[in-house]
Amino acid sequence: MSVTGNLNQIKSLLPDNVKLVVVTKTHPTEIIMEAYKAGQRHFGENKVQELTNKALQLPADIKWHMIGHLQTNKVKHVIPFVSLIQGVDSYRLLQVINKEAEKCRLVVDCLLQIHIATESTKFGFTVTELTDLLNNENIFALTHVRICGLMGMASFSDDYNQVRSEFKVLKKLFDWLKDNQFKDQFHFNILSMGMSGDYNIAIEEGSTLIRIGSAIFGER
Ligand SMILES: *Cc1c(COP(=O)(O)O)cnc(C)c1O
Repeated sequence: MSVTGNLNQIKSLLPDNVKLVVVTKTHPTEIIMEAYKAGQRHFGENKVQELTNKALQLPADIKWHMIGHLQTNKVKHVIPFVSLIQGVDSYRLLQVINKEAEKCRLVVDCLLQIHIATESTKFGFTVTELTDLLNNENIFALTHVRICGLMGMASFSDDYNQVRSEFKVLKKLFDWLKDNQFKDQFHFNILSMGMSGDYNIAIEEGSTLIRIGSAIFGER
C-alpha cells in the first residue's frame, strides 16, 4: 500500500486518546511530504543533523520529535527545531537542555526515557535510577524544561508476553509518578510507547503516543 494508505489505515484504528508520531529517519523529504499532505504533522527523527536538515527543508508547521539518544554537545543545535525531546536519559542531559533552552528563551518539552527492555544496548533510566534522581535533585527547579511524561522501548522480541510485561512496568511507573512527584504537573500526561511491531500491545497497555516508521514507509 502507499504511504498515505498505510498512514490512514493506522490512524483510522487509533483510539482518540492515542497520538501518532511518524518516524521518518533515513527517508527523503519527498516521501515525508506524502504523509504531510495526508495531514500528518508530528514527525520523529533519531539524529540531530538529520532532524535539523529536514526541518529546514520541510514546512514550518511540522512538530519534530527527537526520539533517539541525544548527546549533550548537540543539544544547542536541536533546540530551535524540536517540539518534544523524547529520549532524556540522564540528569546531565536535562540540565544542558535547560541551559540551552534558557539561552533561546524557550521552555522545551521533554520525556524521560526508561529502560524497560532486556537488551543492554537500549538507553534510559532504570526505575531505581529515576527514583534516586527524583529524591536527590529538584528537577522542577529547571524552569526551561517541562517534563511531559515517559518514553520506553520494549525488547525486540517475538515473545509478546515479554513485550506486554515491559509495557506494564512503564505504565505502572507513569501512573505512580503522576500520583506522586508529578501530582501537580498537569502537563505530565504523555506515555510514549509502541512502534511498528508492538503498538497494538502498547495501546492496550495504556500508551498515549506511538512512534511508527516501517509500518508506514516499509522496511528501512
Ligand atoms: C526507529 C524508531 C522507531 C520506529 O520504529 P519502526 O519499527 O520503524 O516503527 C520508534 N522509536 C524509536 C526510538 C526509534 O528509534
